[in-house]
Amino acid sequence: GGLARSMAFAGAGIDDELELKKLQVFVRIRPSVTSGAPAPKGAFAADLARENCVHATSRHSIAIAPPEGSQAYKSGDRGQTYSFTRVFDRDTPQEEYYESTAAPLVRDLLRNPAHNSAMLAYGITAAGKTYTIEGTREQPGVLPRALVAVFQGLQSHVEPVVARAAYYEVYNEQIYDLLDEQGVGPLGQRAPLRLKEDSLGRVFVAGLSEAEVASADEALALLRRGSRQRQRAETGLNYSSSRSHSIFTITLYQLGLDAQSSEEGSDGVGEEGGGRSGEEKLGRMSFVDLAGSERAQRTGNVGVRLKESVAINSSLMTLGRCLEALRWNQQHKNGGNLRVVPYRESKVTHLFRDALHGWGQVVLSVNVSPVARDYDETAHVLKYAALATQIGTIQQAEAPRRTIKAVSPAIRKVKRKAALPPE
Ligand code: ADP
Ligand code: MG
Repeated sequence: GGLARSMAFAGAGIDDELELKKLQVFVRIRPSVTSGAPAPKGAFAADLARENCVHATSRHSIAIAPPEGSQAYKSGDRGQTYSFTRVFDRDTPQEEYYESTAAPLVRDLLRNPAHNSAMLAYGITAAGKTYTIEGTREQPGVLPRALVAVFQGLQSHVEPVVARAAYYEVYNEQIYDLLDEQGVGPLGQRAPLRLKEDSLGRVFVAGLSEAEVASADEALALLRRGSRQRQRAETGLNYSSSRSHSIFTITLYQLGLDAQSSEEGSDGVGEEGGGRSGEEKLGRMSFVDLAGSERAQRTGNVGVRLKESVAINSSLMTLGRCLEALRWNQQHKNGGNLRVVPYRESKVTHLFRDALHGWGQVVLSVNVSPVARDYDETAHVLKYAALATQIGTIQQAEAPRRTIKAVSPAIRKVKRKAALPPE
């Protein structure tokens, strides 16, 4: 609405311009030397450069070319240049990447009730997705930084707002809770969870545990616990965590709404599964470390690996088809046949339907390996991501089934506070 809109513009800085787009696509090139050592200089650097098949050509564009002598080169492929919201070269520090990608989502979470925003890291295995989302202890990624910023932001709220975290994964199109105490044991033997929709049509994972967290440290402890669970499963089974999509969410709830709701004569919001009475979901931010996007030829075509590849490819293809349909609908919104967006055809797109749909923002981090031997897969990654970039601001593709309940005075107060410039 108008209020939320004017709030979103308050305190806008230079990079805040980027906030006005619903879907933003950022590319981050991984250093070719993965030890963290500084890139070599001089003659050796030239040698190394030949190993690289991608180059940032400006703040917004990237060029990719096949290595000489490769199959692609022999068949006449001389490469491509693509444009994105921003392209970050291999030396980009974690902090800078966070400021451009996830920091606007944090501001959005604190300002706009009912928003559901997500950052998804997409790319082949070893391209830097986990480094970008989680990072290391010394070089924390966007998720730990976002958590710190959220709790800092909440300190200025006097209203009772509670934060809860969830951590789960989608493996072979099944959802598993990574925080479930009972769920210890080989992955795949745990009971998968189901997706449901509440009375407002908002998607939620039924039975997913949400743990109350009072600080960034508490939330990060949950992240580490869940990650350990994934690693344990990795050693025991023919399962690799890079073959699943992992999702960490932080959700803010406004407490103590009982009296107010009845005063206002509200019809009460149909709360999603995790919601408890006397509270209302304010907003949610999700960080998704997508499964490696490499196609089946590379990972082998048999057994478990093939099943995984099929599941991953179909979910990433569905995401692509959703983006395509959204783009079509955006171009044809004034008359013309709107397309059905196939959100329900994969778990990831269904999960983030609300965010993709227009209630929030979506940030895609395209993580790119510069290594020449990854050329074919990396070319595919960029081509796919370029499609997403053409969408720009996504308009709501379908009418919401019901309008969102009017914002309560308590929330309006939270919003007013949160709308103050962050520093
Ligand atoms: P993915 O999750 O996409 O499979 P990782 O995040 O595990 O890939 O990255 C592969 C390796 O490269 C890791 O050792 C990681 O620490 C390192 N790495 C990735 N991106 C960067 C970066 N921007 N700077 C330094 N090291 C990186
Ligand atoms: Mg990873």
